[in-house]
Amino acid sequence: MKIYNTLTRKKEEFVPINEGKAGIYVCGPTVYDYIHIGNARPMIVFDTLRRYLEYRGYEVNYVSNFTDVDDKIIKRANEEGVDSKVISERYIEECKKDMKALNVREATVHPKATEEIPDMIKMIEELINKDYAYEVNGTVYFRTRKFRGYGKLSGKNIDDLRSGNRSLLVSGEDEKEDPLDFVLWKPKKEGEPSWESPWGDGRPGWHLECSVMSKKYIGDVIDIHAGGEDLIFPHHENEIAQSEAANDTEFARYWMHNAFLKINNEKMSKSLGNFFTVREIGEKYDLQVIRFFMLNAHYRSPLNFSADLVEASKNGLDRIKTSAEKLQEIISANKSAEMKEDEKNLVEKLPEYTEKFNAAMDDDFNTADAIAVIFELVKFINTETNEESSVEFAEKLYNVLETLCNVLGIEIKTEKELPDAEIQALIDERQAARKNKDFKRADEIRNMLLDKGIILEDTREGVRWKRA
Ligand code: AMP
Ligand code: ZN
Repeated sequence: MKIYNTLTRKKEEFVPINEGKAGIYVCGPTVYDYIHIGNARPMIVFDTLRRYLEYRGYEVNYVSNFTDVDDKIIKRANEEGVDSKVISERYIEECKKDMKALNVREATVHPKATEEIPDMIKMIEELINKDYAYEVNGTVYFRTRKFRGYGKLSGKNIDDLRSGNRSLLVSGEDEKEDPLDFVLWKPKKEGEPSWESPWGDGRPGWHLECSVMSKKYIGDVIDIHAGGEDLIFPHHENEIAQSEAANDTEFARYWMHNAFLKINNEKMSKSLGNFFTVREIGEKYDLQVIRFFMLNAHYRSPLNFSADLVEASKNGLDRIKTSAEKLQEIISANKSAEMKEDEKNLVEKLPEYTEKFNAAMDDDFNTADAIAVIFELVKFINTETNEESSVEFAEKLYNVLETLCNVLGIEIKTEKELPDAEIQALIDERQAARKNKDFKRADEIRNMLLDKGIILEDTREGVRWKRA
């Protein structure tokens, strides 16, 4: 399995630190508003990375943080006249709802910056002890030049950075020893959340969060560190400097960065105002379609968001689902059980699809090529099955199609509506259970129906039901 490593600018064979295991850290969103569909791109592509590693037998520890203390959160809290915790908690919940709708699985751990402050203080103390950090009037800075490897991820030359930043040096406002130094701890300002520290009340710098949380939940060395390409500099460069200086070891072995989602060929971002939230898009399209749209491009290629491309993705996804339905129909019609001779021969071709799919994914997670293989399989299913096909044959095809789609987080199961007669039978069973004081069973039936979108209403005239 090969991964393009931003650090070495090459595709490299993935060799985990511990055989069969993978520790992945993905920088998560700052929670001050609904996430936009640009933010959804890293969530979807790295969730797919995780699913693929699991499918290939790895035990994955997937850690993705929520940045819940930040200027933007504080600004929003002040505008609404509430505590910043109200804002961050609200948008963490909303973000989780969007992730669910995009079929992005919950991380193994979703640490929050505000809950990890003691460890952040500890890392700053270590950096001060090692002379990698210093305090001036309540602010602690990282001594960037002291870290020899600075610039290795972004390919920036430290001297070029220095001349670019010279204006800061002469402004006189800055107390840093060097304009390249960045903040590890900043002092409290009126109306801002703060924590006690040896340098006075204040809060941590953004870069420090990820160094501390990845260390705590994965370890000093992590297998894969990922995020959007805008994070390469300065965020990830600074994370490397802090972590490697504090831990005396390599920080992350593979660095993966997704390219941007664009709109009219401009980067989609909050600051440019040219964004759509996942919530808005979810009103227009099934978010499965958006996930499929994102995976139709390689994660390192820029992707332009347009109604035409989303429409094309919708049609593609429908083709896959129609094929899956055809198989389901053969299975439920149950005309012949066992495979015929010609079907047995056809089944031997199935591993080829899986192998081709794996080869595409092994090549730096080329989901675009992997989807092309799924379409080849769909064509095979459509031409080689008919009403007379056996259940066994249809099941074998269905299993392969479902497995490959699942790796991409694409659901092909179409829930059939429960027929009215079956609903009535379940309601009758529930009434009987209640009569026998078997409330557990009665509740079970109510919840089962609720899962299928059937709402029960107990009235004087009896039980009424409706579809949600
Ligand atoms: P932020 O909340 O701005 O820190 O962003 C959270 C994640 O979304 C980061 O990994 C960003 O790199 C990523 N991101 C932000 N905008 C886009 C975009 N337009 N396309 C792809 N990724 C993005
Ligand atoms: Zn980060």
